Amino acid sequence: MARLAPEKFLYVAASALLLCACEKAAEPSVNEPTSSTPSSWWKPSPKSSAPAEIWKEFSGEKAFAHTAKLVEFGPRPSGSAELEKTRAYIIAALKQSGWNVQLQTFNDETPRGTVAFVNLVARFGDRTDTQRAIVCSHYDTKIFDTIHFVGASDGGSSTGALTELARVLALDPDLAKKTELVFFDGEEAVTQFTETDGLYGSRFYARQLRETKRNTQFKFGILWDMIGDKNLTVTLSPDSPPELARGILDSASALNLRESFSYYDRDIYDDHVPLNVAHIPTIDLIDFDYPPWHTADDTLDKLSPESLQKVGAVTLFYLRKHL
Ligand SMILES: [Zn+2]
Repeated sequence: MARLAPEKFLYVAASALLLCACEKAAEPSVNEPTSSTPSSWWKPSPKSSAPAEIWKEFSGEKAFAHTAKLVEFGPRPSGSAELEKTRAYIIAALKQSGWNVQLQTFNDETPRGTVAFVNLVARFGDRTDTQRAIVCSHYDTKIFDTIHFVGASDGGSSTGALTELARVLALDPDLAKKTELVFFDGEEAVTQFTETDGLYGSRFYARQLRETKRNTQFKFGILWDMIGDKNLTVTLSPDSPPELARGILDSASALNLRESFSYYDRDIYDDHVPLNVAHIPTIDLIDFDYPPWHTADDTLDKLSPESLQKVGAVTLFYLRKHL
């Protein structure tokens, strides 16, 4: 995903949030140990049984395996049967880890006509008021008529990693309940980014947050996009919220991964923009220094589990420290 945007355009596009309607169907959930029975008073509480260094639980290999599966589905543009398969795969994996998944469906007009989009919003437990952070990714791939584009890094990598993140967060139910995982549909422009083409899912989601005032409950958001490159350099956009950027870089330093993070000299137009407009400081962890971007060469062989591991670990370290 993503593309560079002149600053002026960024403001125009970001302010053009869409109208919408829809909601959801949450399900009962999770299996949290309790210590309420008389004989179990001595058992560790759920919190104390959570891994002390939860960032070490993130498996780059598992994230990579999810990504490989998504790539196997082929090109996954919005509205396609392949994206439907992708959705089913993600939902099954999330539910296996104990998450409730809301399908946020809506139609929008695109340069190719009306498209039905579906965001996936995952929460741990039944409540919608416990979440303080959003971790998100887009799961669609850009539509191309002339090339076979499978989006291994662009659409695949961050989605595979977010699916693995769900597994890891479930090891610490308290932390999981504070985190909302969102898989955006329609990040990619159907033709090219304008105020009405691209970021369909994040614009819809952010608007819903504003309309329900849920935007006020979140402290920050972390967007992942194109994080699979073997030669990982996360290129932070100049519009990164400063405090959040410092915290992410501190987390990277603490894990000895600082060399994999740098700043980019131009704005990056991505799903973090509508969230920032909705007053949720959100940072885009994206490796935009990726030559196969939007080419048929964005394939699995360009990716490594280690890169996914790095981004997963830094994010978990930050979440544990700041939630
Ligand atoms: Zn893209």
